[in-house]
Amino acid sequence: MDENFIHSSLKTEDKPFELPLRPISLEEFVGQKNIKERLHIFIGAAKKRNDSLGHMLFSGPPGLGKTTIANIIAKTMNTNIVVTSGPIVEKPGDLAGVLTSLKDGDILFIDEIHRLNKAIEEYLYPAMEDFTLDLLIDSGPNARGVSVKLNKFTLIGATTRSGLLSSPLRSRFLFNARLDFYTPKDLQQIITRSAKILNVRIDSFGANTIAKRSRGTPRIANNLLKWVRDYAQMNHKKIIDKEVANLALKMLSIDEIGLDEMDKKIISLIIDNFAGGPVGIKTIGVALGEEQTTLEEVYEPYLIMLGFIKRTPRGREVTKIAYEHMGKIFPNKLGELK
Ligand code: ADP
Repeated sequence: MDENFIHSSLKTEDKPFELPLRPISLEEFVGQKNIKERLHIFIGAAKKRNDSLGHMLFSGPPGLGKTTIANIIAKTMNTNIVVTSGPIVEKPGDLAGVLTSLKDGDILFIDEIHRLNKAIEEYLYPAMEDFTLDLLIDSGPNARGVSVKLNKFTLIGATTRSGLLSSPLRSRFLFNARLDFYTPKDLQQIITRSAKILNVRIDSFGANTIAKRSRGTPRIANNLLKWVRDYAQMNHKKIIDKEVANLALKMLSIDEIGLDEMDKKIISLIIDNFAGGPVGIKTIGVALGEEQTTLEEVYEPYLIMLGFIKRTPRGREVTKIAYEHMGKIFPNKLGELK
């Protein structure tokens, strides 16, 4: 059994055959009420003016719907969307190729935009602001600059680490939104909707059981639903109820608040080896054999949201409620100092 089912499912992209689960209109997009309201105004106003949209930035942990929103915007605006990602655009020529292919009103979606290298970023500034691309042709004494006029495109950036974006880049986005983790109620609605699309019978208790263990993340909710569906099928259960959901999820070692083995390893390591912290993220990564960026982007946000881990200038600290969740006694550090 894959002990890190949740996180491995976050690191892999949705496969094409899973696409139908993606909502294709803002009405179908569950939760994120405030962002949806702002989008209605932003998109509605641009449409009324018959103008293209200003550049937009969506940030938040993986699996919360950034790519989905970008696709919904393209559909609503009835425009083309070209999809790329920060690490893929390696050379200025790569960027020039994409930008010059865009037509008026087209959307360029750059996933993981914080991973664009700085040289490329600088080409983006004039492209975003004045729709021009300033290229350097040839090198040495023959080097000369040419300015290419671009069509009026909309850049939509997605990032799991908005803090890593340079401020000149960030300031060029007119619309900036951070996606929050979803409530269990929203996730239950997403699971019920997905079950309908997948043609799986589920009752509200079954959907709620899966929702509570989905770490506030629609992608995880959908993946857990598919696992529970498989379990039900192999055990000849006609409907997913609370009992079936619980039995299936037990096999994945996911506890009642959505923590899996790796989350527990992180918390236990800090408690047992570093007296509850503070301990540097690098040290945690080395001790667990996990990349620092994965810890920061995939595991930590939910633990911080739960209030289990605190980020301090000296490193990560485990809080009292995390000790209690792990069935351990919180040390009275003030007492020790006396
Ligand atoms: P991100 O780009 O933030 O990593 P995605 O947009 O790829 O996340 O979303 C992951 C999956 O979760 C999508 O395929 C979609 O099925 C589902 N999803 C995300 N947000 C919602 C939502 N608000 N309502 C319903 N399903 C959603």
